[in-house]
Formats: sequence, C-alpha cells, structure tokens
Amino acid sequence: MSGLIHVLNDAVANQIAAGEVIQRPASVVKELMENAVDAGATVITVVVKDAGKTLIQVVDNGQGMSEEDAGLCFHRHATSKISEAGDLFAIHTMGFRGEALASVAAVAEVILKTRRKEDELGTQVRVSGSKIQSQEVVSTPAGTNFQVKNLFFNLPARRKFLKSDQAELRHIINEFNHVALTNQEIECNLIHNDTDIFRLKPGNLRQRITGVFGKSVNAYLLPLKTETSVVRIGGYIGKPEHARKTYGEQFFFVNKRYIRHPYFHKAVMSAYAQILAPDHVPAYFIYFETDPERIDVNIHPSKTEVKFEEEKAIWQILLSSVKEAIGRNSLSPSLDFDKEGVIDIPVASKDREVRPPQIETNPDYNPFQEEQTYHRERITFPEKGYRSTYGQSERSGEDDRLEGWEKLFEPASAITSAGNKYLQIKNKYVLSPVKSGLMVIDQRRAHERILYDRMLAAAEKNSPVAQQTLFPETIRLNAEDYQVCLEMMEHLETLGFDIRDFGNQSIVVQGIPAEMTPGLIKEKLEWMIEQFKNLQEEPVTGEVERLARAAASAGAIGYGRPLTGTEIQELVDQLFACSNPNYSPSGKPVVKILELGELDKYFKA
Ligand code: ADP
Ligand code: MG
Repeated sequence: MSGLIHVLNDAVANQIAAGEVIQRPASVVKELMENAVDAGATVITVVVKDAGKTLIQVVDNGQGMSEEDAGLCFHRHATSKISEAGDLFAIHTMGFRGEALASVAAVAEVILKTRRKEDELGTQVRVSGSKIQSQEVVSTPAGTNFQVKNLFFNLPARRKFLKSDQAELRHIINEFNHVALTNQEIECNLIHNDTDIFRLKPGNLRQRITGVFGKSVNAYLLPLKTETSVVRIGGYIGKPEHARKTYGEQFFFVNKRYIRHPYFHKAVMSAYAQILAPDHVPAYFIYFETDPERIDVNIHPSKTEVKFEEEKAIWQILLSSVKEAIGRNSLSPSLDFDKEGVIDIPVASKDREVRPPQIETNPDYNPFQEEQTYHRERITFPEKGYRSTYGQSERSGEDDRLEGWEKLFEPASAITSAGNKYLQIKNKYVLSPVKSGLMVIDQRRAHERILYDRMLAAAEKNSPVAQQTLFPETIRLNAEDYQVCLEMMEHLETLGFDIRDFGNQSIVVQGIPAEMTPGLIKEKLEWMIEQFKNLQEEPVTGEVERLARAAASAGAIGYGRPLTGTEIQELVDQLFACSNPNYSPSGKPVVKILELGELDKYFKA
C-alpha cells in the first residue's frame, strides 16, 4: 500500500508555530473544504446541524485516502503536501501545516470514511479527543466523508463562548463563500438543519458570484483584467450606481485564498471617488495572482492578512484597472458585459519602477447625474409621528426639560426678528445665536440622538408605535445578511419594527418605528444590518441598545438635506428634550458653542 503521508520531522515541526486553528464551527468548515479542494474533488457538500455545534459534515468525491493514510491524517504535522524544511515556504504560502485535522480531532468526535477509486473497500476511523477509537474496513463511496460532532465537547468554556446559532451560521456561510468563490469549477452545496442554503453548480466566475449573491447581481458586474509582471488582477467590480450601504460583497483573493486588505480597499474606493453616493461601498470580487514568494501570509495567524512585496505598485495598478473598468462602462453603457478588456502593459523588471497602466477614462462621468434625487432626497422629516409615542402634549413635556438649556438661549425675539432664529448652512449644520455666542448643531447627529432616545424610551415602556409601510415590502437578502436580520428580529419588535421572516432568505417589512423617516425601506434595512454587524465588535452595549443605535443611524436625516424653519425648530426642541443632547448615541459631539470670546479674537487687530 503506497501511503502519501509522511510525518514531518521535529526540526520542521518546531519551525511551525502552533496556532489556534479551530476557533469556531466555521474554522472546521474552512479546513475540511480546503482539504476537499486539495484532494481534487468536483463536488463538495457541507451539512451542518445547529450551526455546526452538533454536526459538521463535509463530503467530497476527491482522491480519498489509503487505509494507512486514513489513520495517519489525524497526527500532528501529518501532511501529504510538504515533506521537508525546504518546502517551508509552501507552508507559509499555502498554509499546509498538517495541523488542521489533528486540531479538529483534539476538540471533537470525528468519524472519517474514505476510499480511493482504485480500492474496492474503504476505511472508517473514529477519533475522539485525539484518541483513535476504532479503525475498520467499510464500504463507502469513493472520496472522503468527515463527520465532526459535538465540537469542543471536552472544552466546556470554549463551547460556552460560541455565539448564537445565527451568528455561527453566518461565519460558516462566510467561510463557505470564500471557498465557493475561488473554486467555481467545483459544485458546492451547503445544507443547514435539512434546509438548502446553497446549491452551486459548476460554472464560470460570473455564474458563481450570482449563485452566491443572487441573480440580480449579474446586471451590475463589470469585468476587471490586468496583467503586469508584478501581479495579475482579475474578477469583477460592481457598477457605481449599485453600490450599497452594507459591506458584505467586497472580496480580495490572492492565489485563490481569501484575504482582507484595508489598504487595497482604499485603492478601490479612490477609483470610485466622486461617483458614489455618500456612505456607499461598491461590490467587488478581485482576484490577485502573484508569485507566492512575493507575499507573506505569516503576518496574521488566521492567514487572512497578507503582505505584498510591492504593495505600492500594486495599489497603483489596482486603482488604474478599477478606474478603467468603470470608465469602460460609462463610455459605452450598452456594452456587452462579457467583453473582457485586457490592458496592454509592458513587462517591468523587478528593480525598474512599475508604471501604472495609462487608461482613458471619462473624468466627468457621474452615474448620479440623471438621478440626483437618488440619495435620501425622498426622506421627509417626521412631523408628528412620535407624538403618539409620548402621548402627551409635546411642548409642555419639553418645556420642563428645556429649563437648563433655556438659560443658555436668549429668547429668539431678542436676537433677530421673529422666525430668523436659526440658520442652516451647507445643509449640514444648524446655527443659532445663544447668550454666550453661537451654537452649532450637527443636524444628522442631532436627529440620531433624538431617534435613539425615543426608540429606547418606547421600548422601555413597552409601547413602541409602528407606522405601517404603504405596501408591505419584501426584501431578499444575501445569505449572511439574512442571518443578521434573523438575529436582530427578536428585538426589532421592541423598537417598533414590524418585520417578518418570509423564508427563502427574504423578509417582509410591514412597519417601522413611528419616529423614523418613512420611505427607502430597503436602504434603511441594509444600513441597519451594516451598523448592527459593526457594533457587534463592541460588547459594551446590550442588544436593544445596539439595535436602537443601528436603527437611529438608519433612520436619521442625512447631511445635504435642506430643512424648513419648522423642521429646524422641531429638531432643536426635540434635541434639547433629550437626556444627553451633547453627544450622539455613538459618543460623537452634537452641539458646540462658539464662545463670544472666541469670536472676539477673530476681530482683534
Ligand atoms: P494539510 O491540509 O495541511 O496537509 P490537514 O491536517 O488538513 O493538513 O490534512 C492532513 C492530510 O490528510 C492531508 O495532507 C491529506 O493528505 C489528508 N486529507 C485530509 N483531508 C482529505 C480529503 N478530503 N481527501 C483526501 N485526503 C485528505
Ligand atoms: Mg488542510
């Protein structure tokens, strides 16, 4: 029997930093799927139960393992992919460390069934907490079938640390997507609690992307292709007018591995400069190919952060090629989307300065020219919606609370003629003379503070008021955002949302809190999901507060929104009725006073 696996000698083993390979169910999915890809599978099926806490099963039709290898593969540093220290660079670049299965077997109960095509019978191995329980001959389809049960059963603290099923499933979907988006020629399936999440047939990259993110994505993908001696860049970027407020469709891959790269993200964003609505991010699926020697994946243990040798040069190349793709789209709007332009770039030598490709773009192109009203313009300031929430005459309620602040104000009439108490500048700040100088209010943050306080107050009294949407709006989300939405769902009602799970990655919005500006429901929801995701990194606030912050951010008026005199008056009145008008829910300043003394200084000779 010819085994493929060798156990690495100590010298090599010691060069390999023992890392935390398995952090959560998603890490198991990642490692097992990558192994299936390495084994040449053409179909990979992932079956999870209870977000992987009960079962993670990965079945492939790859090359399988011999009887000997089936037992060996759980040993630390058992790998068929590298054999000597000279191959260490392959460890750094590809991540073959022979550690994954050993790590999984150490923290779970694993059943492996595997058979090579050339063998008549296969092998079954049971391992639990690193100990091989049994090994026997079985009949099983060609390929490999790993079942990982009761993850962290022997590490109760670790198991307790796992997040909700929705959150863990989200991580699984992310890892699954990373593998699916780099292996479009492989059929990839994901099934959770007997429900299909993905059934992705083999195809080209465009088909794979639309398989993952939905058919509607197809219409907005612009191909990207650049070849230089330093790097090859391929993939797709989203049309500017389809940029969204949520992250989740931004991907960089290097040599078929997903990476995060904030610096390159900036390059993409600069290519879109001035043609995106505020706060919007374009989708992108950008694939780099480069000599593995020119990257260092070792700067981050989970290998999602990579350092390129020629980062500055690549930044320029990336910027130009994204600009080129956008420009091509704007110059011939009716173009055939499958036409993949290739930029001709002279071969540069390593020590010569790399020149970014020169590209013709239309600098005046602005996809919003015809749609100036696209962003926020339809939002109206809520006029009376919240009154019902408070159920009392607003003015009297606020007059009490205003007392402290009243002292700061001069009565309007004493300063200017009636009605001219406030001035809005740049559709962003509200200015008003006060006793000690000039008060400046950030309109968006002010409104955020108001919404936040009102929603929380309503939630506390358990009396949220929803305004019904004109028509119930059905919104289809991508798999990840859908999970986030399910996570939020529990508390959405407390805040006055009427949102239902419609199944099949869709939700129906029937009402939003009365305090929120009506309209643009989908945009608001996307923004909320984005905020909620980001706020998850901040463990300080409770779930309801977190959601209220996200909702306030989604529902507040934006910058660039002209306000009428009445609206300004209401905004100011409501702001100073808040318990803490000085700061936005996220702690940013809302009000500043430009002191008279400060003003006097400007005019000193
Ligand atoms: P690595 O992938 O770094 O080699 P792993 O611990 O992930 O280390 O896997 C150890 C070895 O087990 C692999 O090198 C491979 O030989 C074998 N193996 C793991 N999964 C599969 C699979 N799905 N099909 C065939 N062989 C596999
Ligand atoms: Mg592996």
